[in-house]
Amino acid sequence: MTEHLERVATSTPVTMSVRPHRPDALADPTNDHRLEGDLVTNGPLVDRYGRLHHDLRISVTDRCNLRCVYCMPDEGMTFLPRAELLSFDEIARVARVARDLGVTAVRLTGGEPLVRRGLVGLVARLRDLGFEDIALTTNGTQLAALAPALAAAGLQRVNISCDSLREDRFATIRRRGDLATVLAAMDVAEACGLTPLKVNVVLMRGQNDDEVLDFAEFARRTGRVVRFIEFMPLDAQGEWGPEKLVPGREVAERIHAVWPLAAVAEPGRVAPAERYRFLDGVGEIGLISTVSEPFCGTCNRLRLTADGSIRNCLFSDDEHTVRDVLRSGGTDEAIATILRRAVWAKFPGHAINEPEFLRPQRSMSMIGG
Ligand code: SAM
Ligand code: SF4
Repeated sequence: MTEHLERVATSTPVTMSVRPHRPDALADPTNDHRLEGDLVTNGPLVDRYGRLHHDLRISVTDRCNLRCVYCMPDEGMTFLPRAELLSFDEIARVARVARDLGVTAVRLTGGEPLVRRGLVGLVARLRDLGFEDIALTTNGTQLAALAPALAAAGLQRVNISCDSLREDRFATIRRRGDLATVLAAMDVAEACGLTPLKVNVVLMRGQNDDEVLDFAEFARRTGRVVRFIEFMPLDAQGEWGPEKLVPGREVAERIHAVWPLAAVAEPGRVAPAERYRFLDGVGEIGLISTVSEPFCGTCNRLRLTADGSIRNCLFSDDEHTVRDVLRSGGTDEAIATILRRAVWAKFPGHAINEPEFLRPQRSMSMIGG
């Protein structure tokens, strides 16, 4: 067993273990931060723990054509009135201001981003803004038809959610849509160059955790990076419980026992996934262990919700609306200040495993996963 895998296997189980923050960024004399009260008012987007923010998740809608059990109820989900959604002009403006504050990567998400018409045009606008990385997270049900246009407009890569490789179980978990369509979309996306293609798998105890090895084999056979995501307390119906969690280290151990794994060394890693490659050189998996192994200490993400709030953490209700500024003739500087305040207000960690943790009021599809 490799040193890195041992670290995963022996780490403290499901307790608050926020990784060390990086106060060095604030101490760095080359960062000419001018402080207004507490708030840093120039330089890159930085929070009070020194975490620099380069990554903006943009939710374009809270609607979806599926009803995954870990995300939404089968019936009764209410959605935002359309007038409350930011227009693509408004989104592009916030993205431009964020870019000027050092954001280099954007990811379009939702809800299901591909149910919003005209997304190809938004991708082209983001490309024209010069982002280094433009990605999309999708359920894959409508991707096959749109992938060529999205790629031509500047989309670089996609993450496709797929929680079972069994047709009947896929239907049980996602409640709508079908597995064959999603698998076909993966082929089309790859043919369009939307790579590396990542497959997001939310594992739930007793529901699909017996497919860990099937997914590992899938990763080895297809070359797609399968990312096992821990079920988070962000389902709209509030049915999450720790007993449904499948810790990432357990996943690593089970795969390692069959196909030995080695951690991919990533000095200064800020991505949420811990990457492992198969020792025989065939394929890679990722573990997103948000609950059992929080990676808050290196989090570089902020979110723009579909209704125009800047959100600094999935698990914090702290939101800073930018829509009012956009719709009342506000300046770019005012938007920048909201971005800075949102980042500055970020907590050091999500505290899911603390007794005082309260579920956020908005669920995953309302925030933008
Ligand atoms: N509709 C798209 C999709 O499903 O890929 C994009 C939005 S979805 C909210 C983004 C990601 O969040 C997906 O990979 C989904 O599996 C994941 N997700 C949703 N609810 C979750 C939960 N309660 N815990 C962990 N991951 C969740
Ligand atoms: Fe829709 Fe994605 Fe939520 Fe599933 S996870 S219900 S596809 S938004």
